[in-house]
Amino acid sequence: MGAGCDRCGRRAVIAVRYSGRRLCRDHFIDFYVRRVKRELGRGRRIAGKVAVAVSGGKDSMALLDVMAEVLVPMRIEVGALAIDEGISGYRDGCLEVVRGFCAARDLPLTVLSFEDDVGASLDDIMAGGPPRGACSYCGVFRRHLLNLGAREMGADALATGHNLDDTAQTTVMNLLRGDIERMARTGPHTRVQEGLVPRVAPLRRTPEKENMLFCLLRGIPHHHAECPYSDGAHRRLHMEIVRMAEEDTPGTRHAIVNACDRIVGLRTSAAPIALGRCGTCGEPSASTTCMRCAFVAELHDSGIVGRE
Ligand code: SF4
Repeated sequence: MGAGCDRCGRRAVIAVRYSGRRLCRDHFIDFYVRRVKRELGRGRRIAGKVAVAVSGGKDSMALLDVMAEVLVPMRIEVGALAIDEGISGYRDGCLEVVRGFCAARDLPLTVLSFEDDVGASLDDIMAGGPPRGACSYCGVFRRHLLNLGAREMGADALATGHNLDDTAQTTVMNLLRGDIERMARTGPHTRVQEGLVPRVAPLRRTPEKENMLFCLLRGIPHHHAECPYSDGAHRRLHMEIVRMAEEDTPGTRHAIVNACDRIVGLRTSAAPIALGRCGTCGEPSASTTCMRCAFVAELHDSGIVGRE
């Protein structure tokens, strides 16, 4: 990168297209951390403890690092929470990265597994030829365990590593489906609902590439491997829409996320989403049987998982 940092003239490591700035290492890190602080200031106040959902990838490892830097000096406890889905040749390496980082930084780590929760690893479920794709089971079981784990850790917030690109793509997907309810559920939680640990997404205005740069500049270890069950197909259209829009008009991703927040704000002030309890497991659910229990029952019926 030829030109120098806009703030100090030292060698720039990034040209931020959507803001027209060039920044050196130190000013980029400062810019990155300030944005996370601003995002934390927008949501519900975190007081005692936050559980950070970590997968070992660049986004969640950058998040764990920056949350520890920002919150620990404020006497807010930061604990890592990882889910072992049981994906051989993939998850073990990710968990190794997480364990090493947490040990080096003296951060507590909780690991919960599908095997312990539903009685089978994702590999075992898929080997049984179930009626759904791997990501359907994975997403539902993981969300359930993240909430359970954060609650057991005594956390008053669950932080996830969703980045700007993810958030803009999800918003476009929900808009194209006309699914405003889902949009409200997937955004940061502004209300406390019994049994549900409120989610925050401090990186939702941080582009994926900037998380990668942050990891590289700070020497944060992260895992690069791609999940063997991922084909990326279901998101390809939305990724392409967001990519082309950003390419044409830098700043579009931020505009999409801002629009999402305004829509969700209108929706939230109109009527809260009513949550009851699942009749099977007792966890918060919008219907009488939560999705996790419906999927587990389906796997029992097909003989893929034994009875609990
Ligand atoms: Fe789970 Fe699908 Fe992601 Fe793999 S790609 S970790 S199966 S959600």
